[in-house]
Amino acid sequence: MASLKKIGIIGAGQMGAGIAQVAAVAGYDVRLSDVEQSRSDKGVSGVEKRLARLVDNGKMDDKLRDKALARIAPVEGLKALGECDLVIEAATENESIKHAIFKELCTTLNPDALLASNTSSISITRLASQTDRPEKFVGIHFMNPVPVMKLVEVIRGIATADQTFQAAKKFAEALGKTVTVAEDYPAFIVNRILLPMINEAIFTLYEGVGTVEAIDTGMKLGANHPMGPLELADFIGLDTCLSIMQVLYDGLADSKYRPCPLLVKYVEAGWLGRKAGRGFYDYSGDKPVPTR
Ligand code: NAD
Repeated sequence: MASLKKIGIIGAGQMGAGIAQVAAVAGYDVRLSDVEQSRSDKGVSGVEKRLARLVDNGKMDDKLRDKALARIAPVEGLKALGECDLVIEAATENESIKHAIFKELCTTLNPDALLASNTSSISITRLASQTDRPEKFVGIHFMNPVPVMKLVEVIRGIATADQTFQAAKKFAEALGKTVTVAEDYPAFIVNRILLPMINEAIFTLYEGVGTVEAIDTGMKLGANHPMGPLELADFIGLDTCLSIMQVLYDGLADSKYRPCPLLVKYVEAGWLGRKAGRGFYDYSGDKPVPTR
């Protein structure tokens, strides 16, 4: 398989922009795409800020920063990704949005290009089956925040060719990540274990067992977790947490994965966590303030 040079990324939110950053720093040419140019531009300005911080802290020299930034082009829509060697979809965690993206993308994408999804939970086999190249489709699941977290899960769909799987592994390793391999079952490994814990923390809040602060302090100091589960839920995005619980609930048909009604209510209110300025904490002031 020819080596990958141009990487397209769909979705310039917290994950897409993070993937763009690590790929550009590792020397890949990156096109970062979103539905509107302003969102792609916002993704790149986030990368600029994070790289500036690394330079200020002496963790990156400014030449590397300049080179990396010059390698990222913010683009609108999917046509601009036609020449890429690998396209990673990192759009909203919603299966119909992802299907629509792949359907449109495949009409203009180089037939040799590999396709990947950064989905947290959705079946790679099902996403691949809706494309013109299931054997060239693979799951590459980065963790949040991408530049900091060392792990990438690589997930093989039932039709994924070994060459595709090996190319995905090699790509993740070239970004300096450690790869674990997960089979294609709902939410793979990390989120299969992590999200039920977060959902249980929300039930604990819902049932009045503890306040936001008590639950997060309990798990930080009592279980040695670097972040409390509610803080982590806000960080992931409550819409993403709810989608993952729904995929687990539907995909494994087990009531133990029932999303907590309070999580549903927060998402209905648009309180999606850090990215929305409010979730289990209010982020409008200098310090996050618990909302319950
Ligand atoms: P986000 O809400 O920060 O960003 C999603 C982006 O997708 C937005 O900028 C939105 O405009 C864009 N988008 C929506 N529809 C689109 C379309 N049709 N074409 C192009 N772009 C479109 O979400 P996120 O946290 O970056 O999550 C993105 C993906 O990464 C999801 O599949 C999620 O499950 C996965 N993921 C998230 C985390 C996490 O902790 N948040 C971790 C690992 C994987």
